[in-house]
Amino acid sequence: MSESNAAEVISVGTELLLGEILNTNAQFLAQELARLGIPHYYQTVVGDNILRLQKAVAIGCERSRLLIFTGGLGPTPDDLTTEALADFFQARLIERAEILADIAQKFARRGRQMSPSNRKQALIPEGAEVLPNPTGSAPGMIWQPRPGLTILTFPGVPSEMQVMWRETAVPFLLSQGWGEAVIYSRTLRFWGIAESTLAEKVSAQLALPNPTVAPYAGKGEVRLRISAKAKTEAEATQLIAPVAQQIQEIVGLDYYGSDDDTLASVVGALLKQANQTVAVAESCTGGGLGEFLTRVSGSSAYFRGGVISYDNQVKVELLGVSPEDLAQQGAVSDVVAQQMATGVRERLKSNWGLSITGIAGPDGGSDTKPVGLVYLGLAAPDGLVESYRYLFGETRGREMIRWFSICTILDLLRRRLVA
Ligand code: ATP
Repeated sequence: MSESNAAEVISVGTELLLGEILNTNAQFLAQELARLGIPHYYQTVVGDNILRLQKAVAIGCERSRLLIFTGGLGPTPDDLTTEALADFFQARLIERAEILADIAQKFARRGRQMSPSNRKQALIPEGAEVLPNPTGSAPGMIWQPRPGLTILTFPGVPSEMQVMWRETAVPFLLSQGWGEAVIYSRTLRFWGIAESTLAEKVSAQLALPNPTVAPYAGKGEVRLRISAKAKTEAEATQLIAPVAQQIQEIVGLDYYGSDDDTLASVVGALLKQANQTVAVAESCTGGGLGEFLTRVSGSSAYFRGGVISYDNQVKVELLGVSPEDLAQQGAVSDVVAQQMATGVRERLKSNWGLSITGIAGPDGGSDTKPVGLVYLGLAAPDGLVESYRYLFGETRGREMIRWFSICTILDLLRRRLVA
């Protein structure tokens, strides 16, 4: 019998051991277990090999009461999780008619024939319950092969695993008395403030015991995670709400959103609310700003489109940038950023025009115009246009310079829209 009361995540797949894919399933499950307050002391990664898999099971059930497997449920011979478990606990594998029917129906819906190898996915050990997979073919299982030990299996595909976890596994675990205390978190997101400055401003909140508040750095932004421990999610939410409110009031405009919000989604919501539209002219970001804006579903309501004016000729012909200014000031300049923003606003008939022109590097910098120099243009609904000069710093690298450019222009627009 196990000594510990904890859960263990066992990720199955040789791809993981070869470093071909990142173990995001373990990360997701670890966060979920923490959120539910289920103790979790070990994670194992094991390849597609039946003996080593069984060794992992043997070790796992010595030290944990809940074993959570991901991967190895597919139809091919190297998918061995179910087989290894059944063999280890000496249970018979039984073909479950309802799984077979479900898989056949899913194939039929996609207009495809089920292959004989898929039959394997309908086998689960005697006594196990099916853990339904609403979005993919392979179901998982919930199995208590002996008293005090629970096994959950999930396919490797992260999106399938997550749906199954939320819809079936979590309610099951809660019904079994796992996770009495819920740890629930909210993330507040900030742009335009340094982590140290933010930490000073909210030092009182950082010292709280429950909820706890912790800063951490995101991709170019700072975040604060507020985590509360409580009996229910509703209680935890109640503990978090006033603290989140205090922090937002203290920090003001540098706070832009929470949880799944992005600068693009927040700007989109503000544009929608104002019944306004935006168009973009991009040079050094090569369409990244438009891509970020259109990641938000429903962005057609406010995003008119964009011009990727990488070449000077395109800046002149499609955006109306002055060839003389280009020759005198260069493409990376205040005046060109302003003309790009105005040009795209007028030509695409939007309320706002945004532009980005800069030197993302690593080549192309000079003493007067170093790598990381970026001009951002913003043409407003009243026709007024402004530009902003930034030095994002060569050492950050091309991708981060581009990302900072995209986020900073969106943040400038956000501040205007809020005001
Ligand atoms: P399927 O039924 O789709 O074959 P499976 O249960 O057999 O799923 P695997 O074949 O192991 O799962 O993995 C399917 C895909 O899921 C992998 O190619 C990989 O992209 C992804 N995947 C597997 N394990 C993980 C993991 N631990 N973290 C993130 N992604 C994973």
